[in-house]
Amino acid sequence: MRVLVVEDEKKLGELLGRGLREEGYAADLADRGEEALWMARAVPYDAIVLDVMLPGADGFEVCRRLRKDGVWTPVLMLTARDEVDDRVGGLDAGADDYLTKPFAFEELLARLRALTRRTPVERPTVLEVGGLHLDPAAHRAWRGAQELDLSAKEFALLELFMRRPGITLTRTQLLDGAWDIAFESRSNVVDVYVRYLREKIDRPFGRDSIETVRGVGYRLRAD
Ligand code: CA
Repeated sequence: MRVLVVEDEKKLGELLGRGLREEGYAADLADRGEEALWMARAVPYDAIVLDVMLPGADGFEVCRRLRKDGVWTPVLMLTARDEVDDRVGGLDAGADDYLTKPFAFEELLARLRALTRRTPVERPTVLEVGGLHLDPAAHRAWRGAQELDLSAKEFALLELFMRRPGITLTRTQLLDGAWDIAFESRSNVVDVYVRYLREKIDRPFGRDSIETVRGVGYRLRAD
């Protein structure tokens, strides 16, 4: 396990580095945000311990930039005070967990163990499949440069397809993913909405990206 410790307080940084090495981790130290950014991009760390209060780019900024660049290494943020704003800010910036200073080293180890048990998953901000783009956070979608005008359900359905390109999704899967459980599941609502979706994302563009898989469901072409 290789950990990057980002802390500008020299004593604390060295203490953490030494403690981690005694526990069998490989630990690298950075004392500035910019330094942490290039190290984290260059080395596939298993986890990053990131102090919020840093000169220059602070911990929030470092975390945001890493996620923006597609670096999904788990981040344990160190916040100076137990303040809601700091914790919320850290999690919003893409941190996976936080620890309030002062903390017991045992707790840092426990949290690192928990973080490194999870495999980093890609959480791209914009989905792209065969000329379609979808931004789940902004709730917007495009075919090429053309923005699509989708209802909430059409959007939910398209997102389901775009998260599993090339995979056949059954009507039940689509229903479970885009409608709440109270919905009457015997209705043909999925077929109706797939037809709506085709009218918006395919037909005006002369495309045929949603395939019908007879007797099973539908599939979004991956190419
Ligand atoms: Ca600091």
